[in-house]
Amino acid sequence: MTVHKKTKIVATLGPAVESYKTKLKMVRNGVNVFRINFSHADYKTVREQIKHIRKISKELNTAIAVLADLQGPKLRIGKVASDTYLNQGDLFRFTTKNKIVTDNDNKTAYITYKQLPQDVYPGELILVDDGKIQLKVLDTNQKDTVTTQVIEGGALSSKKGVNLPDTKISLPALTKKDKKDLKFAIEMQVDWIALSFVRSAVDLITINEFIKKNSDYKIPVIAKIEKPEAVKNIDEIILQADALMVARGDLGIELPLEEVPLIQKRLVHIAKLHQKPIIIATQMMESMINNAIPTRAEVNDVANSVMDGADAVMLSGETSVGKNPAKVIKQVTKIIKQVENSKLIKVPEIPPIPEHRDERFISQVVCFNASKIAQDVSAAVISTFTASGFSAYKISARRPMADILVFTANKRILNSMALLWGVVPFYYDKMLSTDETIKDIEQIACQNQYLHDNDMMVSVLSMPITKKGMVNTIRITQS
Ligand code: PGA
Ligand code: MN
Repeated sequence: MTVHKKTKIVATLGPAVESYKTKLKMVRNGVNVFRINFSHADYKTVREQIKHIRKISKELNTAIAVLADLQGPKLRIGKVASDTYLNQGDLFRFTTKNKIVTDNDNKTAYITYKQLPQDVYPGELILVDDGKIQLKVLDTNQKDTVTTQVIEGGALSSKKGVNLPDTKISLPALTKKDKKDLKFAIEMQVDWIALSFVRSAVDLITINEFIKKNSDYKIPVIAKIEKPEAVKNIDEIILQADALMVARGDLGIELPLEEVPLIQKRLVHIAKLHQKPIIIATQMMESMINNAIPTRAEVNDVANSVMDGADAVMLSGETSVGKNPAKVIKQVTKIIKQVENSKLIKVPEIPPIPEHRDERFISQVVCFNASKIAQDVSAAVISTFTASGFSAYKISARRPMADILVFTANKRILNSMALLWGVVPFYYDKMLSTDETIKDIEQIACQNQYLHDNDMMVSVLSMPITKKGMVNTIRITQS
């Protein structure tokens, strides 16, 4: 048995989570999705980790999604001398010429971004080491050197990350490393892919085309919103993305920190309007990397994300390098359940009837009304059958109180649906009559304790039953 809750938990893999036992415990405590951070992953370890996850999935008979998070156009400085210190007002240079910088006054650093001198303009900001060090561009020779002035100083160490919030970066959305990692992720049959530092819809079109070319199954893509440009272009990005992540880590470096909470709210609202999943990420339980209990502010942060109706909350360092990853998950689950039991989760204001009468029109109307009926009769369960996942997304987007049991014979989408709010995916490939099917799933729902005596179930079906049929029928039953 795993935990019953609607809001999902994404946990990042890393050295602290390498053992099978730890991952098993984490899933028992409430993890639904494991994230591989390709900024730090080696393929041999990843293979091992995914093997563990698939085995746990079988052992506990529960869907678990694997999310491959691509590094994207992340910028870094090269090696610097160990005693490099930047004082406010100092001049400092970035070079794209030599990997090893040998100037003896420690006033130059190599940067991994070849086009920097061509892309920056005087006055733009260069942020190093999560924004701890801030520099302003004074001049560029347009070739290989950029001269800056230190605005906020500090100790500078090797390989630190660089953010350029003001600059239109000409690097491609998918770097050479990303393409290699993506091919590997496709080979590993991961369930979701996340793209870092998305800037516009074109970035998503690019990755989607790459996936289509290299995989027989179109793996869904999460756009990580972590640049001001992405926030600006969100209306076009959401149309090309399968889901969003509020990547508050880099977002809080590239934009003033105080803007992040409002952007988070806005992104949750937009994602829900488009009926696409959204993940809230970074520093949710940060203090639990070292401590046994979270801060009050962290508890509040998780609770508010749940109240806003996010599909999932994500843990990064808390699990990947944390002292006690399983304990973190237990804590997050407790917060989620407390809020969910209060029924204070915001229901999104999606128009009841879709404007556009496409081939999915009937299915959409059926899913909307099934959610509505489920509320009217206080159903414990809404069940649906899907080959593409469509009805699962649509019902989940309505945030009904009932648990959403989704049955599919499509093994490739089964685990991916573990990310969706309220959705419990099951593998199901029987082709029975409608009556027999309902009896059968009633039994599965009872066995898994989603349904008890006298409980109502609202079933969404396609009649006649076919493998690929779109849902067109709503049935209400009582156990
Ligand atoms: P990262 O993304 O952990 O891959 O940097 C999340 C974030 O920036 O918040
Ligand atoms: Mn990031």
